[in-house]
Amino acid sequence: MNTLFVASECAPFIKTGGLADVIGALPKAMAPLGHNIRVMLPAYPALAPLVKKGKTVWGIGPLHGGQARLVAVKAEGLDLLLLDAPHLYNRPGNIYLDASGHDWQDNHIRFGALSEIAAKVALGQLTDWPVDLVHIHDWQAGLVSAYMRQSGAKAPPCIITIHNIAFQGVFERPCLDTLGLSHDLFTPEGLEYYGKVSFLKAGIAYSDKITTVSPTYAGEILENEFGMGLDGLLRARKADLIGILNGIDEEAWDPASDPMIAHHYSSRAMAGKAKNRAAVFTHFNLTPSKTAPLFCVVSRLSSQKGLDLLLNSVPEIVGRGGKLVLLGSGDKGLEHGFLAAAHQHPDSVGVTIGYNEPLAHLMQAGADAILIPSRFEPCGLTQLYAMRYGTLPIVARTGGLADTVIDANEAALKAGCATGVQFAPNNGAALDVAIARTCALFSTPDVWKKTMRNAMAQANGWAVSAERYGQLYTDLVPS
Ligand code: ADP
Repeated sequence: MNTLFVASECAPFIKTGGLADVIGALPKAMAPLGHNIRVMLPAYPALAPLVKKGKTVWGIGPLHGGQARLVAVKAEGLDLLLLDAPHLYNRPGNIYLDASGHDWQDNHIRFGALSEIAAKVALGQLTDWPVDLVHIHDWQAGLVSAYMRQSGAKAPPCIITIHNIAFQGVFERPCLDTLGLSHDLFTPEGLEYYGKVSFLKAGIAYSDKITTVSPTYAGEILENEFGMGLDGLLRARKADLIGILNGIDEEAWDPASDPMIAHHYSSRAMAGKAKNRAAVFTHFNLTPSKTAPLFCVVSRLSSQKGLDLLLNSVPEIVGRGGKLVLLGSGDKGLEHGFLAAAHQHPDSVGVTIGYNEPLAHLMQAGADAILIPSRFEPCGLTQLYAMRYGTLPIVARTGGLADTVIDANEAALKAGCATGVQFAPNNGAALDVAIARTCALFSTPDVWKKTMRNAMAQANGWAVSAERYGQLYTDLVPS
């Protein structure tokens, strides 16, 4: 079966968050099940070397004020289709934001163009690669299904995966004219959203199936609190909504072979973890501690991630002799807040503002615990990486965090199946209790080690979820 993925990022080529990890890993996990997936992406500057190596499969010509072509190339085990349109994608810095941190003002054109070209490929543009199924991801690819619908042609079935419903791609109505879309689509059942155009809503309204990245989040987004205005539409489409948990790329994230960490280890030979722990203390210039945990955070700094709560809990960590290292960027208030906490507690709190893949791996390898106090979390990947590296996740009980971490409560400890700590409700007091519980667990080394081993033994790869996507694909495209 030929499946076209359409997305705005893909690891290891271009990444701002978990979406990229999924797009980079899922096609490889589907290949052994007989699925032939091509991933269509914009050709950002980071992809220029691949464009150079690739072959033009469609000389598109003029597209929104510049020349465009579609380039096919294979790299890192992925089969890529790159939309080369320098006037849209050849820009420095963040792929979504300009230098001042605002959305590029032509994002509707940049991702509308991606969707329009993808729809043409889906409808048979590449004669040697007929598309059986289209799988679109998040708002940036949402219009693919609208363009297919508008064409009136017989189109392949379409699945949309919602990786985060908070990002919806909402633009003013005149964008329909710019993008060559009919105002007939501008209805409450279609892409109209409170007088504007929502790319994500279009994707949901015109796709055959809707998936999201964990079973708990699939239930949460049906509710007003988490549905972010799309809960009504999703309730109407409930029969087509499925939660399939993300997996992790177990090759890229393997403490026994990770090229980004200096000291390799496994659950049978853990000495390397202590050496990585020492390396984290050195990197952040903190006084090492043996008796209390080293907590880490690797995250976008946004209100979604609940890190304002964590900032208030720094005294709880430090007061118990714990250490905290944080890597992240985003909200300026949070960046300043954590830098100030590091300044106030120079022996106990270390902060690096920025995006740094090798440091993220080192922190996962060296820390004792990772803190994820998210207000909502569609799936979350950092808790899965942490478990594989024997770093216990301390998580808010929401979305995929609730689905993947087994709380070290009395019953779970007795049964020997705990893998981390969960807390609810998501407020400062509950987070403080979770930190205290983690410190208590750490001070009983046998129990801590057992919990670490449980976490490391979890099957968090793609095998199970790839089967579930495979089932969904074959339900839509029977052979
Ligand atoms: P989200 O997609 O909401 O940001 P996830 O937990 O699903 O959250 O995925 C985040 C991904 O981005 C993980 O691979 C994590 O390691 C990575 N990441 C987040 N912030 C940073 C950072 N500052 N430096 C390096 N990697 C980061």
